[in-house]
Amino acid sequence: CGIVGYTGRRQALEVAVEGLVRLEYRGYDSAGIALVEDGGLTVEKRAGKLANLRSVLAGRPTPWATTGIGHTRWATHGAPTDRNAHPHTDCRARIAVIHNGIIENFAVLRAELEGSGHKLLSETDTEVVAHLLEGFAGQGLAEAMRRVCRRLEGAFTLLAVSVDEPGVVVGARRNSPLVVGRGDGENFLGSDVAAFIAYTRDAVELGQDQVVELRPSGITVTDFSGAPAETRDYHVDWDA
Ligand code: GLU
Repeated sequence: CGIVGYTGRRQALEVAVEGLVRLEYRGYDSAGIALVEDGGLTVEKRAGKLANLRSVLAGRPTPWATTGIGHTRWATHGAPTDRNAHPHTDCRARIAVIHNGIIENFAVLRAELEGSGHKLLSETDTEVVAHLLEGFAGQGLAEAMRRVCRRLEGAFTLLAVSVDEPGVVVGARRNSPLVVGRGDGENFLGSDVAAFIAYTRDAVELGQDQVVELRPSGITVTDFSGAPAETRDYHVDWDA
C-alpha cells in the first residue's frame, strides 16, 4: 500500500523507514525493507505495525547501505504473514521486489516458473516478479523490468534492487501511482510524494506503462519497450 525507494549517500534504511512512517496514513498490514550493500542484500519484513519491523531492525546491526526500498502491504493474495510480507526475492536472493496492486495473471506465471525449477516461498501474486527478473538478470535490471512488465496483466507499482547493480533502484508502473523525487546526488521514489517530502520537493510525474532507472546522479525513464519517455517535472508546494 506504500512504496519508498532511495539511492544516494544517506543511510537508506533511515530514508525508507521515514518514508513508510509518512505513508502509514494509507493503512497496511505488514512492512518490510531491502538494503543493497557491497556484495549483499539485507531483507527484513514483518506482519503487523511498522513498530514490529523497527524492533527487529533495532535488535541487529544495520549495514551501511545507501540504496534501499521500503514497503507497507495491504494483502490481496496471501494472508498478512511475515512470509507474505514484501520484499520478495529470487532463488539466489540477489534481487528484491516490492509491489502495490494486483498481478492478475500470476497463477499462469507461477506455474510456468515452477515448471522450470523455481521455488516460490509465498502465497503472493508479487513473488513471480522477482523470479521473472532473475531470468533476465544478464540484461541489466531496468531492461529485465521492461521485459517482465510486458508479461504482466493487472495494476502494479513495482520497485526492484539487485546486488549486481548497487546504487540502482528500478521502478515501474501501470494503473498504480509512482512518483520520483529529485535530490542533489540522491534520488527518491514514492507511491506518493509524502514518501520523500522530508528530503525534496522537486518531483517528476511518471506516465502509465513506464520504467524508471534511478541512480544517485540521475533518472532514466522509458516505456516498456525501452523507448525514451516523456515526464513532467513539478514542485510540491503543500506543507508536509
Ligand atoms: N497484491 C500484493 C500482495 O497481496 C500487493 C498488495 C499491496 O498493494 O500492498 O501482496
